[in-house]
Amino acid sequence: MSRSPSVILSFRRTFALLIILVVLPSAGLSGFGVVAIINERAAVEKRLESAWRGTLESLSQELPKELSAAKLAEEGGRLQLLAPDGRILSEPDGTFQLEGGRTFTEDPLLMEALGAVMPEVGSLPEVPTVFSLSAGGRSVVVVAERKGDIVRGVRLSVRALELLLTERVEPRAVSSEPVRFALMPVPRESSEGGGLMGKLVSEVAQARASALGPQVLAERVLSPPLQDFRLVVLPTGEDPVARASARNRAVYGVLLGLFYLTLTFGVVYTGRVLYREARLSRMKTDFVSLVSHELRTPLTSIRMFIETLALGRLKDPAQMQEVLTLLTRETERLSVFIERVLDWSRIEGGRKVYQREPMPVMDVVDTAVAAFRAQRLEGGVDLKVDVSEGLPRVDVDKEAVAGALLNLLQNAYKYSGPTNRRIELSARRSGRWVDLAVEDNGVGIAPKERKRIFERFYRVDNLLTRKTEGSGLGLAIARRIIEAHGGRIAVKSEPGRGSRFTIHLPVQKA
Ligand code: ADP
Repeated sequence: MSRSPSVILSFRRTFALLIILVVLPSAGLSGFGVVAIINERAAVEKRLESAWRGTLESLSQELPKELSAAKLAEEGGRLQLLAPDGRILSEPDGTFQLEGGRTFTEDPLLMEALGAVMPEVGSLPEVPTVFSLSAGGRSVVVVAERKGDIVRGVRLSVRALELLLTERVEPRAVSSEPVRFALMPVPRESSEGGGLMGKLVSEVAQARASALGPQVLAERVLSPPLQDFRLVVLPTGEDPVARASARNRAVYGVLLGLFYLTLTFGVVYTGRVLYREARLSRMKTDFVSLVSHELRTPLTSIRMFIETLALGRLKDPAQMQEVLTLLTRETERLSVFIERVLDWSRIEGGRKVYQREPMPVMDVVDTAVAAFRAQRLEGGVDLKVDVSEGLPRVDVDKEAVAGALLNLLQNAYKYSGPTNRRIELSARRSGRWVDLAVEDNGVGIAPKERKRIFERFYRVDNLLTRKTEGSGLGLAIARRIIEAHGGRIAVKSEPGRGSRFTIHLPVQKA
């Protein structure tokens, strides 16, 4: 039977188009996804940074106010800076006094830093004032007051200021990560070295410091007098950026996975539907051409015979009889074909009803053999029937299963040489099955065709099949019938030597 490849071809083209239309944008989308995942960390950092910005702003404004509200007081002979609530904001050992050009302090850092202030002692304000000093690359913040020629002061405790700030804020209100505030020195570009090289060195150092040092969520340089310090937000728990970005990455990953899953499902599903549609439309065309072809041949013969009769040329009653016999055979062929097509449509449409009842295997075999013999086949055939003794019953619709068996017998006959045809029909038990086998010494079937011959409308394309009439439906119908009975149909064949078709029917349960 000729098959039109155009429908399948156009299916492939449509499918390829679908793939391109779907895969290209989705590849782009995943590209974006990957970039987004890569940028995720930066995005989280940015989000946290902007979440903290406002808080840092207000804290940095509040800190100078806190400091100016604090009072210098002497307690137990030591100078201290006391916040309005009584807490100490100064270092216990950080007191100093400048008097007569000399510095009195126990703090070596202060000693060094205050050296620079010495010449300006006279210009210091009398009210307590906060200012920052630097020494040995480090900054210290002090508060001092002047009484005449004597300047007294104390170094501020960075730790105490940090605590003060941390208490001022409800961190949970800003972001869910546990954080603390810290005052850290503003990194200064080292003045020595200068030039390009020096810049490079300091940049490398800065990059190293930011990679190795504590991770800063957000920061703000404080306004004078604390301009040497920056207020930073530090995570106290695990790295929140890593956590948040890991979480977001997981979400992206899952979404991307889901996207691809649905995409694959959609493509596979659409492909299957398209393919089914394409096959269906191909089958319809095949069917129409098959049916018209199969109907035309007998109809042409019938018309010819009728014309011959109508012309009244046949005077001999024997000749007349022969033409009438041929007419009958052709019309029989027609009805058999139409019956088969209808059978198939009933089975396909699920309208076929099987009247099953427990049946001796012999009855089924006899029915098929009787129908086969009734066909007055030309050329003769040597049919051997061998049914084992004592076979169990099978639960079948006798007409249907006998019809399937008859089809195997007809095929064995049709696809054998014109002479010396031998067909063997045997029925045996094998475990839970009763096997009905039809063996012939015909042309056989090539291995690659063996599966396909059970497809509807499929006929092996060779000289013999072209000469033999057939619909390509026989084996398809037989298989459906046997499967509806819980059985199987199998074929073994050697091209040029013959074939053996076996129907396996389940034994009826006691
Ligand atoms: P049909 O006989 O009407 O063509 P079937 O479905 O019965 O349709 O068979 C399908 C094809 O299988 C046949 O066209 C034939 O080529 C091949 N075939 C079936 N039975 C045999 C057989 N016993 N020996 C060789 N070829 C066979």
